[in-house]
Amino acid sequence: MLIAELEGNRIDAFSAERGPSYFCPKCKGEVVLKKGRKVVHHFAHKPPTDCTWAKGETRAHMESKVVVADALKERGLRAEVEFVVNTMPGDRRADVMAWSPKGLQIAFELQHTPIGIDEIERRAFSYARAGIAQSWIPFLSSKVWDDGLPRHGGWFVERYVPRIFERWVHGFNGTNGMWMYDPNDKAFWLGRLAGHQTYVEESSWFSEGGEENYSGGFWKYSTRYKELTLEGPFKIEGLRIKTPYHSAFNTREYRWPAGRRARFVPA
Ligand SMILES: [Zn+2]
Repeated sequence: MLIAELEGNRIDAFSAERGPSYFCPKCKGEVVLKKGRKVVHHFAHKPPTDCTWAKGETRAHMESKVVVADALKERGLRAEVEFVVNTMPGDRRADVMAWSPKGLQIAFELQHTPIGIDEIERRAFSYARAGIAQSWIPFLSSKVWDDGLPRHGGWFVERYVPRIFERWVHGFNGTNGMWMYDPNDKAFWLGRLAGHQTYVEESSWFSEGGEENYSGGFWKYSTRYKELTLEGPFKIEGLRIKTPYHSAFNTREYRWPAGRRARFVPA
């Protein structure tokens, strides 16, 4: 994690110096400042711990928060990593919280590890109720580069298996496409999912009465695969942020709240 408490105040691992005792804002247990060359500066719980904030945090996830927050600060915006939203259920931290010049709060959720649909919907509705604009950004898996090929100056994966929460995020963004993050290049790609068709081979068989029957010989949409088209890469410095209002929308499987949805727009 990137934020700890020093004498009751928030402090980030970049500003923190070795020496004083730092504590986890959640469990109040002591944490150790890690300032290395390779890994982004961060705090780690002293073992043993059963703190939920000590679990499942990857180096790439920590890095991504710093990439986004630093770029926003460069533009003169206020931006905080791991910002606690008091009305949020579960883990109350937004990965990055930014404030527009007019004071609109914008939460960025950088999703490295899968998140359940119930949880993502709880968080999304909670942000919406609090009047906070939100952006959900799935991480690109390196598999995408193995499975795909260049097309139209971008990248194309013909048979992509979207994670469930990616289907939710794609729906959340409507026709605008979903922004995705490549942790290796620290770059962003605009992704779009489309139906993937598979061919059902023609077959024939004889029924008991000796009559020949046919099936197949047509294309159908796969429920498992989607086609993923990626436009990019974009460095975050070249992206602007828009926060249009969207109405609530439901399908049989997913629910999206009414509210402001933040998205990048190439400058
Ligand atoms: Zn803790």
